Amino acid sequence: MDRLKNLREEVFEANLGIYRAGLVTMHSGNASGIDRESGLVVIKPSGMDYEKLSPALLVTTDLLGRKIDTGETGDQLKASVDLPHHLYLYSHCPDLGGVVHTHSNYATSFAVQGRPIPAYLTAIADEFGPEIPCCPYVDNIGDHIGEAILRHRNSAPAVLLAHHGAFTFGATPRAALKAAVMLEDVAKTCHLALQIGNASPLPAEEVRKWYDRYHTTYGQAGTEDTD
Ligand SMILES: [Zn+2]
Repeated sequence: MDRLKNLREEVFEANLGIYRAGLVTMHSGNASGIDRESGLVVIKPSGMDYEKLSPALLVTTDLLGRKIDTGETGDQLKASVDLPHHLYLYSHCPDLGGVVHTHSNYATSFAVQGRPIPAYLTAIADEFGPEIPCCPYVDNIGDHIGEAILRHRNSAPAVLLAHHGAFTFGATPRAALKAAVMLEDVAKTCHLALQIGNASPLPAEEVRKWYDRYHTTYGQAGTEDTD
């Protein structure tokens, strides 16, 4: 099935992307994607180092988490332990095609404190809107993480999880990867700025202007990728 093969490649690239960007270490974190037509989800296998990952080793499931026989080596592997959170987001948000989870350092430094990141920067206003939300601590049992993310989701393609890390998402695995990379980049700048003094968010009207421009006219008109 060509669609599934393409999805495997996209999900592999997203996993490789978070590793290359330094957002994950060893085997922490994960990226997934969904083919909406078949309802099949492809995700990183549990506990596997990124150095050893290949498209064939990714695990395919349906939206209920049942493994699918695809004839690839990944059929023999266990899916990421975070699969239920990815599935919850896909099941409740038809707009999502890719999800990424990391414990990237600067974003997680805000999560440690349970702090959302307001639009201190035009880059935050552009990509995320008025605030990157942070949900209170929840454990990873059942749907707790998925429910907490959706309770706090706003215009931003990212939600911080207190004492844990971040989930980012988008229409494709690449969009979720981009959100994870941008999140860490702006979190780093904000973290550094807050070391040398207080900071104020941009006024709401300015945030709206930047966000609207970025989501309507920025980049190459008519192309999906606006980075
Ligand atoms: Zn985690």
